[in-house]
Amino acid sequence: MRVVVIGAGIGGLALAQGLRTAGIAVSVHDRDPAVAATGGYRLHLDHHARAALGRLLPPAVHRAVLASAAHPRTFRQFALLDHRLRTLAVERRTPGEDALMIGRIPLRRLLAHGLDVRFGATYTGHDVDAAGRVTARFADGSTDHGDLLVGADGVGSRVAAALAGRRTSRPLGVTGVAGRTPLTPAVRALVPAALHHGPGLALGPRGTIAFLSLHDPAAAPALASAGPAVPADVEEATLVWGFTLPAARLPAGPDPAGRIAAAWPHPVPALVAAADPAHTAVFGYHAADPHADLTPWSSGTVTALGDAVHAMPPTGGRAAATAIRDADLLVRELTSGADVPVAVHAYERAMPAYAVDAVEVSLSPLRWMGALAVPGAHHAAHLALRPAALVAR
Ligand SMILES: Cc1cc2nc3c(=O)[nH]c(=O)nc-3n(C[C@H](O)[C@H](O)[C@H](O)COP(=O)(O)OP(=O)(O)OC[C@H]3O[C@@H](n4cnc5c(N)ncnc54)[C@H](O)[C@@H]3O)c2cc1C
Repeated sequence: MRVVVIGAGIGGLALAQGLRTAGIAVSVHDRDPAVAATGGYRLHLDHHARAALGRLLPPAVHRAVLASAAHPRTFRQFALLDHRLRTLAVERRTPGEDALMIGRIPLRRLLAHGLDVRFGATYTGHDVDAAGRVTARFADGSTDHGDLLVGADGVGSRVAAALAGRRTSRPLGVTGVAGRTPLTPAVRALVPAALHHGPGLALGPRGTIAFLSLHDPAAAPALASAGPAVPADVEEATLVWGFTLPAARLPAGPDPAGRIAAAWPHPVPALVAAADPAHTAVFGYHAADPHADLTPWSSGTVTALGDAVHAMPPTGGRAAATAIRDADLLVRELTSGADVPVAVHAYERAMPAYAVDAVEVSLSPLRWMGALAVPGAHHAAHLALRPAALVAR
């Protein structure tokens, strides 16, 4: 069997590693010019994704991922903060939950380890012959052939759109503006104490919410050291922050992050002003319809995984974990001994059981962001949350 994967993001690379580990030939194509030519911040991988990585990756790569990630004890609570970053409520996390916090860029670099990924290759379409063999076509005129084509090409997937006859996600009219601020002593002094025990979500002016999280994998890695074969890829200590706001309210012109932060009281403008501008990004949120069929096509020798089929906003911290879970499930079905279309059918039937929930959970913060945008609601929410904060304390 030979599998052609479109997209060397988190899901596509996890799949390719799993197939390779299982002895299945695989080729991966991505439109990016190189593995490091990408963006992203700290990803949250839940215990399902962590366990899946243990099955999919060669041991040396798995060790390197763990040694590059922050230990679960760095995420002991989730804080709800007000616009001055004062604690309103705290949700304690179950001790011992085996989550991983790892930067998207180091995770992508490590997942690509040992794989022969063709970068600079933009998929444009595919054909399936009578025997089910697939030919993928690329913008440079090249082709690749396989017994299975997997679209792991993320939000706006062309592979999934070719299968479904329509786009598989829609824009939500909500924008994210995110960045990271190096944790200098001056920045550390501004970071509220609650963030030293886990991330926080702050309710800001006019329905804007801010996500804030310290990311310092070197201080408390999930595994003390990687093996000699694959070194760890450890990011510097940063405060990761991201604003979520209605797209119509995105400030025009340069430095949108600075302009958004200017509407918040101290210390938010100072934390954002100290960010590395090279790592600040603006992106629209998209989501699949959780009530619709995620794979509305007849199972065959072309399928898709990750954001290509169940796009979700980053507000749930579930997208990367769900893509890794898909990869694990698809590898399991493809190695079950069933014919490719039967294995693909089993994958497409089982995947929604967890993916729909991930989309729903990720959409829920946007619902109350919409409610908080109503004049007066913000003040009411603070009044309601103060007793909750007292109880939580
Ligand atoms: C640049 C970037 C930054 C991100 N930052 C964050 C973040 O900070 N936090 C967060 O929660 N999520 C982030 N995400 C999304 C997160 O990576 C995904 O939601 C999650 O990992 C699911 O992974 P995926 O493999 O489905 O998609 P992705 O990881 O998005 O990977 C999709 C891949 O497909 C490639 N691709 C797309 N179209 C084509 C084509 N036509 N031909 C060839 N290749 C193609 C893309 O270049 C990309 O590498 C980011 C995604 C990207 C692309």
